[in-house]
Amino acid sequence: MTHGGNNVLIRGGRLFDPAAGIDGIGDVLVRDGVIAAIGGAVESRPGEVLDAAGLYVLPGLMDMHVHLREPGQEHKETITTGTRAAIAGGFTAVACEPNTVPPCDSPQRLAAVIAIAERTAAARVFPKCAITVGQKGRALTDFGALRAAGAVAASDDGLCVKGEEVMRRAVSSAREAGLPLTLHVDGPAMIERDIALAAEGGWAVHFSHVSLAEEAELIGEGRAKGLRVSGEVTPHHAALSADDAPGGDANFKMTPPLASARDVAALRRALVDGVLTVIASDHAPHSPSEKAVSYEDAPPGVIGLETALAVIWTHRVEAGDVSPDAVVRALTSGPAEVLGLPAPGLREGAPADIALFDPKGAWIVEPERFNSKARNCPFAGHRLQGKVIATLVGGRVVMREGGILGVGAA
Ligand SMILES: [Zn+2]
Repeated sequence: MTHGGNNVLIRGGRLFDPAAGIDGIGDVLVRDGVIAAIGGAVESRPGEVLDAAGLYVLPGLMDMHVHLREPGQEHKETITTGTRAAIAGGFTAVACEPNTVPPCDSPQRLAAVIAIAERTAAARVFPKCAITVGQKGRALTDFGALRAAGAVAASDDGLCVKGEEVMRRAVSSAREAGLPLTLHVDGPAMIERDIALAAEGGWAVHFSHVSLAEEAELIGEGRAKGLRVSGEVTPHHAALSADDAPGGDANFKMTPPLASARDVAALRRALVDGVLTVIASDHAPHSPSEKAVSYEDAPPGVIGLETALAVIWTHRVEAGDVSPDAVVRALTSGPAEVLGLPAPGLREGAPADIALFDPKGAWIVEPERFNSKARNCPFAGHRLQGKVIATLVGGRVVMREGGILGVGAA
């Protein structure tokens, strides 16, 4: 590998950015952190050359639902290890949940997360803030100040806002602040309530980890009525049903739990029909010792950043029931739209956040090799098809062939 200035030439890949209508063989020239040229054979210059023959060249993936655990639970994950896991999986941007210790419920705490990320992250980090102070479900946090401080959404992850009046005020306050709301799903009744509150308050709500057919139906109905509701599905809920989980294995314990085969089929249709526009990992690291207790005592949650694209590719694209187009949108423009962020894209002048993906690359999931600190992965030992080969963030090759290249200080 040769380095020459800040140039990287990605040669001969399948340039694939469905939101921009791009699908064809070509080159991408990266210079000074941005995409300088794209298309047919791009004039070659001295610099690093990545041979992308046979590979998809994708916009950097965005995961709008991850737990980085810092501050407060660094034994589970840190912003460094979590974002190293992200770039290993082709994700160049992640939105992190506020249920840290303490919860991210003030501009000061949000600024602290941003400062750690600036020093130590290997990918772009967009923090969410809590909906209520201390995540206690009572007083709302200051959405206006939190948005000004850099929050991309307010989330109740980990603890659903039970009080209807509190959620009603959250919707109106989020609208005033222009802050998206991402809500922890707690069954169809709660989705129905929150869709009604969104309609009443004239603001958008997004539902995290949709897992049931009935939940997807409610979201589809809301969208058909023109309401601003959206939803996400995790790779594990889209790939596995409860029948696939060996009894008693805490690495299959998550919230919500794996559902029925009928629900999995409904989630697949919702992705195809554009009802669910986001795939998000809900990467939820726990230390191996925390998961090594009885199933009942183990904390819920599984990790997913390093397997997300390959799991969806193996179980849904290779199975022939969801198109690459829908999958890539749900991992790029879909989450960007919900969060109101610029979509990662293959276009001249855009930040060079790019993932190279080998759709034929087969591999066995070995959690002990993960960049994440955690090992709580329900796909351990699975053979997956589809492998992220390289990741660029801001024009730098930060991951290549599984190796992390000098980013994300410990
Ligand atoms: Zn979560």
